[in-house]
Amino acid sequence: MKKKIHKYDFLIIGAGLIGSLAALALHKKKFKVLAIDKQSKNQQDKRTLAVNANSKDFLTQLGVWGKIKSKPQSINKIIIKDYLNPNPLIFEDKIEPMGNVVFNKEVLLEAKKLCSKNKILINNFSLDYNNIPKNKILTIKEKRYQFKKIILCVGKNLNSNTNIDSIKNQQFSYVGFFYHSKNHKNIAYEIFTKNGPLAVLPSPDQNNLMSTFIYSSKKDIKKHEIIDLIRKNFNLSHGKINLTKDIFKYPIIVKINKLKSNFILLGDAFRSIHPVAGQGWNLGIKDIQTLCSLIDQFSLKDNIVNEIYFARRFLESAIYLSFTSSLNFLYENINPITKNIIRIGYQGLSNLKIAKNIFIKQAMGRINLID
Ligand SMILES: Cc1cc2nc3c(=O)[nH]c(=O)nc-3n(C[C@H](O)[C@H](O)[C@H](O)COP(=O)(O)OP(=O)(O)OC[C@H]3O[C@@H](n4cnc5c(N)ncnc54)[C@H](O)[C@@H]3O)c2cc1C
Repeated sequence: MKKKIHKYDFLIIGAGLIGSLAALALHKKKFKVLAIDKQSKNQQDKRTLAVNANSKDFLTQLGVWGKIKSKPQSINKIIIKDYLNPNPLIFEDKIEPMGNVVFNKEVLLEAKKLCSKNKILINNFSLDYNNIPKNKILTIKEKRYQFKKIILCVGKNLNSNTNIDSIKNQQFSYVGFFYHSKNHKNIAYEIFTKNGPLAVLPSPDQNNLMSTFIYSSKKDIKKHEIIDLIRKNFNLSHGKINLTKDIFKYPIIVKINKLKSNFILLGDAFRSIHPVAGQGWNLGIKDIQTLCSLIDQFSLKDNIVNEIYFARRFLESAIYLSFTSSLNFLYENINPITKNIIRIGYQGLSNLKIAKNIFIKQAMGRINLID
């Protein structure tokens, strides 16, 4: 006897920080959705996420934000410094915090809990997305399913030979935490040092006395070098500094993928950018929002949804990728020309109020470059 085929609207392959949220958003819109992930529930990601104002609203609407246990830390001001310009650049919004810092693992835990509660998630199941039949009929944990659309949220390691821009950047990000005796005052910092950018953000903590750092560099960095760097730059603002024991090292992969007509790509599977701007995941949230608005307008049977989605998300992804990569390139290759480009850009942002406001609203996800 032939097995029953369960008919679904969406299969989401990869239920990480983007896939699990995409599943919840589509489920909320009353689509029949199934998300699968090759890993189990307990993933130990030690990083924090700078969640911009738009992404915070999105998590709130899905019921995830209210469930996060550690107190999120708002970012009320961002200070950018480098070793070429005498004065810092200061960004702040008069109306609302620019973002909030939360632990990755808590967002993922709560998103996955909600997925499980709604019976839309299967853990511990890996799918070879390179061999999906044209009719999209698949057997998952002994059940047969047919899907209208397949969404890939498998992260930056999407194995594909169709990258139009695939640069395995030599940089690594070193991530850790430190306690300090003075209140961080909800200020985030980005310092462009000679060896790479160092970001310091308030970390979730009841007393505002803990911060996290992300230091990206091509050099093989030792722990004592990070301690010295942080003490040198933050003793004045943060007081006595004590680094926690572990430092985690993440490779930086910079890439953007081409249109794949049979899949919709979300999050890092679509594009993976340098973490210097803290925007990779926030762009993934915009991917989900764009997809949700398109499927209100088009039938799922229509393949044009895949193409319009790609067109809408490609340009913004390419702009962010070029911006973050160029920034690193300029600071890594200092010569009279690159020095001048940096100085002009820096002064432009410092003196032109309009440019500064657009920059702030864009970082907050409050305006769309393309829509
Ligand atoms: C150091 C660092 C700091 C960062 N900080 C920020 C920040 O502050 N703000 C921000 O916006 N972004 C930040 N980012 C970027 C952000 O972490 C990523 O954009 C985000 O995690 C991508 O989520 P994702 O769901 O696309 O991929 P992932 O979180 O990698 O999820 C992919 C999922 O797919 C599953 N999977 C893979 N293959 C299969 C398969 N074949 N079958 C089933 N499941 C599969 C995996 O198990 C995994 O759960 C940072 C990145 C780095 C490196």
